[in-house]
Amino acid sequence: MITELLPFSAQSVRKAAEIMAAGGVVGIPTETVYGLAADARNEAAVSRIFEAKGRPQDNPLIVHISDISQLAPLVREVPPLALRLADRFWAGPLTMIFPKSDLIPAATSGGLDTVAVRMPQSPEARAIIDSCGFPLAAPSANLSGSPSPTTAQHVMKDMDGRIPLIIDGGECSCGVESTVLCFPAADRVRILRPGGVTAEMLSELCSVEIDPAVTSEPAKGERVLSPGMKYRHYSPRAEVFIVNAHGKDFADWCLAHAAEGTLALSADPNAHGMFRCFGRDEQEQAHRLFALLREADDEGASTVYVEMPSKDGIGLAVYNRLLRAAAFRVIETDE
Ligand code: AMP
Ligand code: MG
Repeated sequence: MITELLPFSAQSVRKAAEIMAAGGVVGIPTETVYGLAADARNEAAVSRIFEAKGRPQDNPLIVHISDISQLAPLVREVPPLALRLADRFWAGPLTMIFPKSDLIPAATSGGLDTVAVRMPQSPEARAIIDSCGFPLAAPSANLSGSPSPTTAQHVMKDMDGRIPLIIDGGECSCGVESTVLCFPAADRVRILRPGGVTAEMLSELCSVEIDPAVTSEPAKGERVLSPGMKYRHYSPRAEVFIVNAHGKDFADWCLAHAAEGTLALSADPNAHGMFRCFGRDEQEQAHRLFALLREADDEGASTVYVEMPSKDGIGLAVYNRLLRAAAFRVIETDE
């Protein structure tokens, strides 16, 4: 299959909609990361997403809408709190989990009786959904396990020959996937995956709990609420380690342990040599994380040491992705 890469335009959007109406899969930009989109109602179309990504069948997809009126047909029930959160955080990087309607096939929900729904903020994503006129199931547009794509070129690298079309909408502004949450009680949410809508932001409207799987490794065979959280994820070929040290302590530890092919991601804006600046604050780190992990592979790095990120705000999302990229290996420098 030839994979076309087209800039976002009225014409390319129309072409994307035609492909997806016929059950095909298209790589699309969103503000979080690039998505691999297909008609969420169409079982065969959705199974092509799993095939292109090599994604485990039990890992459910997020369904993307462009208007709140598209929510009701997808779900059996909308808790009042969900409406308040939608009012405040949609369109944006927030995914909410609802009991699913029969419109959503088991392939989309990974066999669960719930469905995850999000309304993206990116004008490109919204134009594409509008043009389709149906909801789009879209996981991140990377090969399963590898770092999520934040540019159309990243998508091309993973999906060349696997899908017919990628729409180039430039770099993703947020850089990490959406916050995923569910509703364990009327006035409470549980964050299953941290993202751009942070715990701090949510706690202005309701009480917030953070699922243990966000920051710790699920035990083998343990049932996790968000199936995606049990897989090794977001990993480059290089071995990634989080180093629990900051500033000069981090730099000194890396220099003492460096070998051929070692790269280090630090918060220092003057990083040089084997050090790369990973971003001075949480926002910048979220924006750059996946591109840097991909660059490590492009440079042939064998080991990547990463300075422990802050866990505040979107920093919790950065930490969550890094833990999985590092297969939960955190190095304590004083041991
Ligand atoms: P991705 O599509 O790569 O952004 O990953 C989607 C994430 O949302 C995964 O971690 C899934 O496990 C999670 N997810 C999607 N649908 C559901 C659902 N119905 N219940 C729980 N988690 C979900
Ligand atoms: Mg993903």
